[in-house]
Amino acid sequence: MPVPSESADTEAADSKVDTLAELHADIDARVSAIIADGHGEWLCRVGCDACCRRLAAIPDLTEAEWLRLREGLAELSPELLREISRDMAALAERPVRPIVCPLLDRAEGACRVYAHRPVACRTYGFYVQRDQGLYCKDIEAQVAEGRWAEVVWGNHDAVDRRLSGLGGTRHLTEWFFGWKR
Ligand code: SF4
Repeated sequence: MPVPSESADTEAADSKVDTLAELHADIDARVSAIIADGHGEWLCRVGCDACCRRLAAIPDLTEAEWLRLREGLAELSPELLREISRDMAALAERPVRPIVCPLLDRAEGACRVYAHRPVACRTYGFYVQRDQGLYCKDIEAQVAEGRWAEVVWGNHDAVDRRLSGLGGTRHLTEWFFGWKR
């Protein structure tokens, strides 16, 4: 069997990065459409960090998502990276639920790598999944009260199908310590 060349591997990685960028653009368009359509009061904003504080598990990322996230991490100061590294180590050693994301700025209620965050963080609260609903309990509560009945939610099953084309996943902590050891 022919052995894939290094340039073929690089092309495949580049193609996945391009596919991820397209997926991000489509998600951003759906989210912007929801907000612009008379929903400027949407709950997702700096200061609302409920989803980042209630993770059910350590996030799983494809390599393309990790490469994007790593760009954001590389922009942080050495002090912040040391702090994140401590939190990652504690999480890897003892993943107590609900999990607080080690990338959350807890004082500000903001993501430290917002522009580089994974797909799941982009869709949360704006996309629905057939068997898991909306994910965000705060938004579900608003829907249960009769608000936002007109919202055209994104389809998370379609996002998952596109993500699966980007290859396998690893825990965020595994990616991180493969980079920062
Ligand atoms: S990566 Fe950012 S947006 Fe996603 S859970 Fe962590 S802090 Fe929240």
